[in-house]
Amino acid sequence: MNLNSETTGMMTRRTGRLAAISMVSLGLLSAACVDPTPGPNTTKPQQTRTRARMGQHQPGMGSMRPVDGARTYAISPSMGRPMREVVGRSLQGRPIEARVFGSGNDCIFILATIHGDEDAGTPLVEQLADYLERNPNLYMGRRVVLMPNANPDGMAAQTRTNGNGVDLNRNYPADNFKASDRHGDTALSEPESIAIHDVIERYHPSRIVSIHQPLRYGSECIDHDGPAKPLAEAMSNHTDIPVRRIGSRPGSLGSYAGVTLGIPIITLELPKEVKGWDASRLWTSYGDMLLAAIRYPETLTVFAGQ
Ligand SMILES: [Zn+2]
Repeated sequence: MNLNSETTGMMTRRTGRLAAISMVSLGLLSAACVDPTPGPNTTKPQQTRTRARMGQHQPGMGSMRPVDGARTYAISPSMGRPMREVVGRSLQGRPIEARVFGSGNDCIFILATIHGDEDAGTPLVEQLADYLERNPNLYMGRRVVLMPNANPDGMAAQTRTNGNGVDLNRNYPADNFKASDRHGDTALSEPESIAIHDVIERYHPSRIVSIHQPLRYGSECIDHDGPAKPLAEAMSNHTDIPVRRIGSRPGSLGSYAGVTLGIPIITLELPKEVKGWDASRLWTSYGDMLLAAIRYPETLTVFAGQ
């Protein structure tokens, strides 16, 4: 959160929100006219699923870019370009990258693959980043922080845990934290957990979405902790994934952010079967749901054209 903006936030928040809505409305035209590539699917959810299963991918979607490897992380002030930064390093030295779009008191933090073998969210969030770069009107008046890969060692090894065998989603200082080899000897014992924690400490997000995949087929859901049920329901209007409470897990990010800190947090369990889908197929199916989370509580339908 920007302290300078916070000092004037109370006076300007209302007008800022109205301005943001107007700008999003204006963005209907600019998004349609400027961006030559299609947005995510906005047809009814069942149609989305059917088309995705048929493998009819939309052409021209932005290409995936690797999170890993050599890269410069200089701040780019130009509109549409996110601030890219390495917010931490994994145990094995891989960068944990965040991309920060826009500014404002309203901030959403979206992260993927805290469980390394539940990695469909990583190409999906990469696609979201590409889309925001091309459509800056979508985040005017707010800040969007994306972390495409929260557990790069786990994703590389295709393990749920990090390189220490710790489940990062049990390693947070929630009241229900339980120390163990699997959860960590202490909360925030792992560098990957700290990287996420640092982002929360720095940006004070208004809401968080953490993208997972379930262990079993048919268990996809929009889970929520803290005061996040309205956000979950808003997202569910853009997908056929149901809202369902899984229940608090010890030391989970949901327990910590949602219950301990009171930040609305969604644990988004994408269908198990989408693992291995290419990026454009994931984006076509689930991008609109993420855009709804960014726009929340605005309910304007930006792309539907109806
Ligand atoms: Zn998970």
